[in-house]
Amino acid sequence: MNLVERLDNVYVIDTKMFGFDNYCAAYLVEGEKIALIDTGMASQTEALRAGIKSHGFSISDISHVFITHTHHDHIGNVAMILNESPKASVYIHPVGVDYLTDPSKELAELKQHIPLAMLERFGVMEPVPPSRIKCLNDGDVFDLGNGEKLKIIFTPGHQPSGVVMFEEKNRGLFVDDIVGNCFPDADSHYPLNPPGADNMQAIESLKKLLDLPVNFLCMGHYGISNQPKQVITQVINYMQQLIDIGIKCIGENKPEDIGSKMWEMMMPELEKLRAVRGETVYQYAIHEHIPSQVEFFTKYCQERFKK
Ligand SMILES: [Zn+2]
Ligand SMILES: [Zn+2]
Repeated sequence: MNLVERLDNVYVIDTKMFGFDNYCAAYLVEGEKIALIDTGMASQTEALRAGIKSHGFSISDISHVFITHTHHDHIGNVAMILNESPKASVYIHPVGVDYLTDPSKELAELKQHIPLAMLERFGVMEPVPPSRIKCLNDGDVFDLGNGEKLKIIFTPGHQPSGVVMFEEKNRGLFVDDIVGNCFPDADSHYPLNPPGADNMQAIESLKKLLDLPVNFLCMGHYGISNQPKQVITQVINYMQQLIDIGIKCIGENKPEDIGSKMWEMMMPELEKLRAVRGETVYQYAIHEHIPSQVEFFTKYCQERFKK
């Protein structure tokens, strides 16, 4: 897998999630108008500011903020951008609106699954004024000028609020986290199973994306891949394997085995991540990130596949 630094008019911003390099991305798309796709986490506002500036833009240039899904590592700085760019609106799937106007909504959901220490590191998100929020429709097209258009495609699965955007000029696809954590520099790729995720639905959404004429995949975690079909096919396979594990374990009345089988599947990918990215992100993955996802996926299987 190869990473691409930037496309002609699409710029990657490293939002420094939890301080990690190249782990969570936002993107700027330049037409006559400037769009920002996702905003990083509230505790890393300065990283977003610095990223926008490093590409030669200022926050007041931004007229559209698009949100791929309602997780805190993507919506944390919407209010800041809108405060500093009075002409801007934020565009989001209708089921995501409450997460912007009332940040405690997602926190309450996450508290059930995520360690408090991890949750605190997300930072405190400012609520977004309802008057600045615009709801997306599946199929909407936004003309940014200079031949650049973004087409909205609803892709529930990672979250009910999931949307992807097809970018016309380079044939890029801005995906929500539905393709999982994919770090081409470490050749490491594993699916994500946060609270609210539905792998069965995600596979249906991903299959739709395979039909699109896409050259580049602009991923939340992390970067621009020039092998979109390979990444999408791989994550479909991973998710299908997880579903098969879930169905088998629930069928045998052994839900407690789901976790160990998930770890078996993920550990080789996490070890590859460790070899290239080092100990800090690896320790986060094995002590905080993956345990919470194992817990949630087990619960999902128990509800979804019970006899
Ligand atoms: Zn994310
Ligand atoms: Zn996410």
